[in-house]
Amino acid sequence: MPAPAQIAPCPSCKHPDTHNLGPIAPGFFFAGQRLDPPLPGGNLYCCPACLLCFRFPRPPQDVLEVLYKQAPSTNWIYEQHHRPDWNITHDWLSRRHPAGGRILDLGCYDGAFLDTLPPSWQRFGVEMSEAALARARQRDITILGRDIMTLPPATLQMHAATAFDVIEHVADPLGFLHRMAGIVCPGGTIIISTGNTRALPWRLMGSRYWYCTIPEHISFINDAWCRSAAQQLNLQLLALETYSHDSNASIGKRIYELGTNLLYRFAPSVFALLRRMGFGDKNTRQHEALQYFPPTWSTAHDHIVAIFARP
Ligand SMILES: [Zn+2]
Repeated sequence: MPAPAQIAPCPSCKHPDTHNLGPIAPGFFFAGQRLDPPLPGGNLYCCPACLLCFRFPRPPQDVLEVLYKQAPSTNWIYEQHHRPDWNITHDWLSRRHPAGGRILDLGCYDGAFLDTLPPSWQRFGVEMSEAALARARQRDITILGRDIMTLPPATLQMHAATAFDVIEHVADPLGFLHRMAGIVCPGGTIIISTGNTRALPWRLMGSRYWYCTIPEHISFINDAWCRSAAQQLNLQLLALETYSHDSNASIGKRIYELGTNLLYRFAPSVFALLRRMGFGDKNTRQHEALQYFPPTWSTAHDHIVAIFARP
């Protein structure tokens, strides 16, 4: 007898009748560290009411917190020319706030983005990683705390708030955006960047898309979610800009990733055979399930930057 379908209420709007889009591969790495045994992937669900996609079941919060604490301080280090979302943000900030002001970067990590801003900006950060915080402080960034949800909102009135590659780690993205809106002053700007579940490559691959297999990623939004969230939170959605996380990649890498993903999607047994024969970067002798693990597609045009304004 088949097992009864699992009920996965939407973690954001609590809608009870969400759609199961299929299984997510188990997580073999967390924040750059190998997991043994791997973390169960759960399934990818989509809420028909608020359009949020989410992982369910998720690893318990205390397990995630321990794994985040173990993350090396070098795992999320980027340079500006590798970050189209930072460059888009620079354009919007200079257009909307030419005189600068106060800015809070949520999940600021080592403060690398804030460090790229001109001195007219007074820079604040929120970050969980202790090791990364020490580097942010060396850059003269004022750290307000570890978690936006526990900060007192009255003390913070920013001209801009940013969160790059953060919302996919958050259990309730609408609550998170609401909190961001609460810390900017009227006329302030809120900018988030993340993956876009309505991008073509994602729709092609479904729950086996590479972005879902990163076990730190538990919530997945899209352009329609941003429009709906803006309406619910009484924010103005100024723009949605799309980009690829690996925009500097060579043509060769783009073709390789496109080819391996199409092979995985349409001929999974051939893909698995090639993996077992040693093609690609996954050692199937380490773990048998790696032969079916989705290939990376970091060159896909699958990310968005959403720019909101508080009226
Ligand atoms: Zn929902």
